[in-house]
This record gives sequence, structure tokens and C-alpha cells, in this order.
Amino acid sequence: MTRVALIAHDEKKPDIIEFARAHEEQLQQYDLVGTGTTGKRIADETDLEVERKASGPLGGDLMIGAEVAADRLDGIVFLRDPLRAQAHEPDISALLRICDVHDTALATNLASATFLIEGLAE
Ligand code: PGA
Repeated sequence: MTRVALIAHDEKKPDIIEFARAHEEQLQQYDLVGTGTTGKRIADETDLEVERKASGPLGGDLMIGAEVAADRLDGIVFLRDPLRAQAHEPDISALLRICDVHDTALATNLASATFLIEGLAE
């Protein structure tokens, strides 16, 4: 089954909820995983089921990166806050890097996230 990770920084959480709602039918067909808070909010605020890793600051980004390294993930939607540095920036950079190493699809804004989700359906 297609497996997709969903992650959003705090400022972007409303956007990822809206995105998940708008693409709920499509996302229902995927195996979803998310960082702790993002995953909880999506599960609470939509009908989607999300496997939750640790919260980002506690290592959730690295846990998702480990799945990329093991070739378990088909795509990641990671809505980052471009205006604020995050305390766990090194973990975030590691996740972006491992996606490039494994050529795993990664979307960091809503426009590309839509392409990613639709592209995976094909
Ligand atoms: P969160 O983590 O979903 O647990 O807030 C996201 C992140 O900060 O990378």
C-alpha cells in the first residue's frame, strides 16, 4: 500500500488540516503516518487514521527519516514554517537530506503537496 507521511510545523498545522480535509478521499487510500502533534490533530479533526510517531522536537522527524532510509515511504508532505527557525532544525535537515538520497517525493508547500498526492494516485 502507498505510504505517506504528513508533518507540519505549528504555524502550518491549520493548513495541513485543511489540506487533509480537501484530499480526504484520496488520503483514505493511503497508509498515513505523521509526527505526534500533526498526526493527532489530523486524526481528531478528519476521518483519517494516522499512525503517530513522536512529536517533531522529540525525534519524530528522525523516525520518519528512518522509514525513508528503509524505503518504506512513498511520499512526504512537510509543511514547514519558513519564517521561524525550529529548535530541531538539524533533524529537519536530516529528513530532507534522506529524501534526496532515496529520491523520495517530498512536498514542502501546499501547491506541491497537491501534485504529490495526485501523482501518487497514478
Ligand atoms: P509535531 O512535529 O507534529 O509533533 O508538532 C512536527 C515538527 O515539528 O517537525
